[in-house]
Amino acid sequence: MVSQPLQPKTQDRRSPQRTCVGCRAVKAKEVLIRFYASPGGSLGIDLTGKGGRGAYLCPRRSCLELTLKRKGFQHALGVDLKLPMEETILEAMRTEVVKKIVSLLGLACRARRLAVGSPAAEGTLRGGAARLLLLAKDAEGSSFATLRAEAEKQGTPILTLLTKAQLAQALGRVSQVVVVKDPHFACGILHYVEKVPEGKA
Ligand SMILES: [Zn+2]
Repeated sequence: MVSQPLQPKTQDRRSPQRTCVGCRAVKAKEVLIRFYASPGGSLGIDLTGKGGRGAYLCPRRSCLELTLKRKGFQHALGVDLKLPMEETILEAMRTEVVKKIVSLLGLACRARRLAVGSPAAEGTLRGGAARLLLLAKDAEGSSFATLRAEAEKQGTPILTLLTKAQLAQALGRVSQVVVVKDPHFACGILHYVEKVPEGKA
């Protein structure tokens, strides 16, 4: 989804560590997805990183498979859970992450930190002020060759995760091309992109 490798996060030694209930690797809490048991005994997903008892998982299909096999959610959460199918959990993870990204993009839009549409996006890219280029996953009639080439030249990451409908939801208007000009918003969006579960849909 992202055409260029993301900058590795600077490892903050003070950041809390958690163990993935699948592969058992110990990682910084913020790179994992937190699951919780709802009062009704179903599995909930939380991306805010707030407190409460949680089961932490790498955003990977293989880790989910391992967890389901080992009843990792039940052990970590200490309850008898009604678990959905693997595909349903993966889809829910994707949906939650996309929701977060759409919401961040909406905030960036209201804060006027975006360039919307091809001409504005291209101008921003050429001016060196683009931090992230978003192209609709289901875009029609263009491969955005010029924009892609310019982004690559500038070292701007390209994200093709969101559909036209999701972009429209964030922007309040239809556009297949958006540039994020603010480094904080771009960084925030890319942080959640890393939480999109790996493995074929
Ligand atoms: Zn894992």
